[in-house]
Amino acid sequence: MKVIIAGGSIAGLAAALTLDCTGHDVEIYERSATPLRGQGGGVAVLRRMMAFLEQHGHHSRAMISVPTRRRRWIDRDGALTRDEPEMLPFSSWDAVYHSLCSTLPHERIRYGQTITGFNQDADGIDIHVGKCAVRADVLIAADGTGSTLRTRLFPGYAPSFAGYIAWRGIVDEADFDAEAIAVLVENMTLHKAPGELFMAFLIPALDGSVAPGSRRFNWLWYRNETDTEALRRHLTDRAGTVHHASIHAGQLSDRSVSTLRQLASERLPAVFAQLVLATRAPFVQAIFDALSPDFAQGRVALVGDAACTVRPHTASGTSKAAADAVSLAQALAPDATDVVQRLADWSAQRRAEVTSLLEKGPQLAASFGLGSPLRGPEQA
Ligand SMILES: Cc1cc2nc3c(=O)[nH]c(=O)nc-3n(C[C@H](O)[C@H](O)[C@H](O)COP(=O)(O)OP(=O)(O)OC[C@H]3O[C@@H](n4cnc5c(N)ncnc54)[C@H](O)[C@@H]3O)c2cc1C
Repeated sequence: MKVIIAGGSIAGLAAALTLDCTGHDVEIYERSATPLRGQGGGVAVLRRMMAFLEQHGHHSRAMISVPTRRRRWIDRDGALTRDEPEMLPFSSWDAVYHSLCSTLPHERIRYGQTITGFNQDADGIDIHVGKCAVRADVLIAADGTGSTLRTRLFPGYAPSFAGYIAWRGIVDEADFDAEAIAVLVENMTLHKAPGELFMAFLIPALDGSVAPGSRRFNWLWYRNETDTEALRRHLTDRAGTVHHASIHAGQLSDRSVSTLRQLASERLPAVFAQLVLATRAPFVQAIFDALSPDFAQGRVALVGDAACTVRPHTASGTSKAAADAVSLAQALAPDATDVVQRLADWSAQRRAEVTSLLEKGPQLAASFGLGSPLRGPEQA
């Protein structure tokens, strides 16, 4: 079967690997002109993605994650208020991406190619890439939370803003005196204030090294934002372009960066403020809930954040993408003739499975005082 995938990020790569393994002829079309880099900062990698990487990416937990021992909560003065064991493997988006990329034959990914539409018929699907059309049996939309392919399938549907944003940044461990950061090393450290949550943890270096001294701190500062004008300002980049959900590192406006720095100095424990102030290229992501009305329609299937975007506190986005990929490959035998029926069955089952995960996120967020409750799954 010829399978085209829109989007060469985590979900697209995972789907390409499983479908390639089961004998499909797979190609990824990624709109970015070059391989992706530094898209997502630090990520906790849950069991399913870790197992997927061990199986498909030839990487073990020890190779791509920094061990974490404690989850420590501190107050505004830096005093410890709660301390519990924490064993989550913290990695980076880059480490997961490179692990997936390194096993997929290079020629399977076409960069600088945006899928702009498609037409389905009884025998296949014509996929539009600019002015050209490519014929395939199946199109997989792995084009993220703001999926334009999902909008083509379900024009009335849009993800809902969860009521808060995440300011994020990465800074080298080596930029600080060992003493000044000793309490943060190999711990996940958090600070909560009304309507906001700050967290920091170590992640591997950009080249994947996890050696002490070469690692990086990843920080996230979740803050409620109910003012639509302020939200618009957060999502306006330095060139004045307003984005739907995020602004990449290096693109925040000077005004946003100085607001961030001022708030950090005024509101955060000193050990955290030093991380924010030392960050050269902070970035911002607005938090959305999304659950596509269906995960397949005809010969088009949706995976990853395009199908369902869960809150980041569940730390499950990459693992969910891995599970989407495995289940989709199981559903699509290479010699299947009833592709549309198989995708419909897969969609019904997979959508039901992820709904509980979708609901867990707002509960966790509410326990931190963040965001608005989930509007019923149908409106998420
Ligand atoms: C603040 C925050 C923290 C998070 N923390 C964690 C965590 O700790 N653990 C975890 O597992 N997950 C975490 N996640 C979620 C995780 O990053 C995502 O779930 C995961 O990366 C899957 O993304 P994706 O591949 O579906 O979509 P994306 O990464 O958005 O990729 C979509 C890709 O499609 C391409 N594209 C878009 N349109 C087209 C088109 N028409 N044609 C061709 N290409 C196209 C884009 O260029 C992009 O490369 C977090 C997310 C956020 C916002």
